Amino acid sequence: MSSEARVARHYWLPIPHADGNGGTRHAFRGPRWLGTSTETAVCSEETPMAEPSEMDWIYYPTCPTCHATLKAELP
Ligand SMILES: [Zn+2]
Repeated sequence: MSSEARVARHYWLPIPHADGNGGTRHAFRGPRWLGTSTETAVCSEETPMAEPSEMDWIYYPTCPTCHATLKAELP
């Protein structure tokens, strides 16, 4: 296996909080979101999925657990 193939693919998506107050940008396994209604983020959180707005990308902070997990997987 090449070193490139061993690096798990992932994508980031801003997810609004259930209470409607802000949100968090989580990472998900796979090349891209395939339109499913829920997904499990890299941090193990079950999140509802929806097409994010431009403002979501700007204002939602990156999930520190997703970030740390992916960083730890780097070769
Ligand atoms: Zn996360």
